[in-house]
Amino acid sequence: MIKKIAILGSTGSIGTQALDLCRRHPDRYRVTALTARGSKEKLFEQVREFRPEMAGLTEGINPAEIPADLKFCRWMSGKEALKAAAAEVDADQVLVSIVGIAGLQSVLDALEAGRQVLLANKEALVTGGHLVTDLAAKTGKPLLPVDSEHSAIFQCLQAAGGNRPEKILLTASGGPFRTWTAEAIAQATPEQALRHPNWSMGAKITIDSASMFNKGLEIMEARWLFDVPAEQIEVVVHPESIVHSAVVFRDGAVLAQLGLPDMRVPIGYAMAYPERLETGVEEPDLFALKSLTFEKPDERKFPALRLAREALKAGGAACTVFNGANEEAVAAFLRKEIPFGEIARRVEEAMDRLAGLPADCLEEILEADRRARDVVRSVPQ
Ligand code: NDP
Ligand code: MG
Repeated sequence: MIKKIAILGSTGSIGTQALDLCRRHPDRYRVTALTARGSKEKLFEQVREFRPEMAGLTEGINPAEIPADLKFCRWMSGKEALKAAAAEVDADQVLVSIVGIAGLQSVLDALEAGRQVLLANKEALVTGGHLVTDLAAKTGKPLLPVDSEHSAIFQCLQAAGGNRPEKILLTASGGPFRTWTAEAIAQATPEQALRHPNWSMGAKITIDSASMFNKGLEIMEARWLFDVPAEQIEVVVHPESIVHSAVVFRDGAVLAQLGLPDMRVPIGYAMAYPERLETGVEEPDLFALKSLTFEKPDERKFPALRLAREALKAGGAACTVFNGANEEAVAAFLRKEIPFGEIARRVEEAMDRLAGLPADCLEEILEADRRARDVVRSVPQ
């Protein structure tokens, strides 16, 4: 059976790799919608190749700019484009691979329309975890994680026969600054932070990997996906990025998922679940690797992990504030307006100033996000 797939954020790192899998398996996938923010030319190319029913740019598209050979497709602009791709266009699966809290609304829209959600956008769970998981439970379809660690945990749990895990071991590469001193990290440049040792990803998540904010977001993501309290999620630094995460059971058994660091494996797993797809990725050569190493994270050098746990403990909108403040601070760092060390400081400041905000509904979550960004913008240098 051919699965119809809508891809939100198709021009990004995850989106293009998902399309690579669609290209490999034209007998299994038909792309029905594609969206991007502003990458017009790249989207034109994708529409030309995959011929979706609908395509859209959130930054808008002037009908006069649409090439004549692409007029077969319904073109949309702004938030309506995301809404149509998530919930209106005919699709079995919706891959939400846009960046940031912008993904929350799309995930809710897709779930409400009864779509199978393939979730790359971790921010939807970080900010609206209770709304997303409640809605997903009503649809009866599991949220299929695309994030490599969460895909690994999900795969391990498939073999658990309903047994609850005692603990989750969430692996982290440690990023480019793992061996740097705290003083050197504080002054790191965007060029240095964008040089990830193992993974090739979009800019925002690459910076988050360098600061370990990504791992903080992933603790929150795991808490919601697997209904496991934060105290049972341990971060394990594993610089080779071969073990993508592991699950510990009460009998002392540990199940882990291994593979090369290539996102086509977890993307393909989500796309084909419960089957497995040929992805073009080789198995890791264990003889060439020889050894795998594991370390405890250094929370003094990477305050993001402590802040993430504090946010989860505080509840309410604290995780949204953590996320929104970080998004805003990362953008300022990439514009070279603030030093790397300032990212965590501003997030902590926002969490202190905005303690106790509620997050019971989408409006409250978006309000907390706005206020967190305001704090980050207003902190004096
Ligand atoms: P990229 O920056 O590479 O791509 C993002 C995509 O979303 C692009 O198509 C972009 O369009 C579009 N986009 C960005 N912002 C918005 C917005 N506000 N509204 C609508 N569309 C938008 O990101 P990644 O592919 O790296 O990451 C996507 C998501 O997946 C993130 O949540 C990330 O945390 C998660 N993820 C990514 C991994 C990876 O390996 N890359 C691994 C695990 C999780 P345009 O090109 O026009 O800017
Ligand atoms: Mg990850």
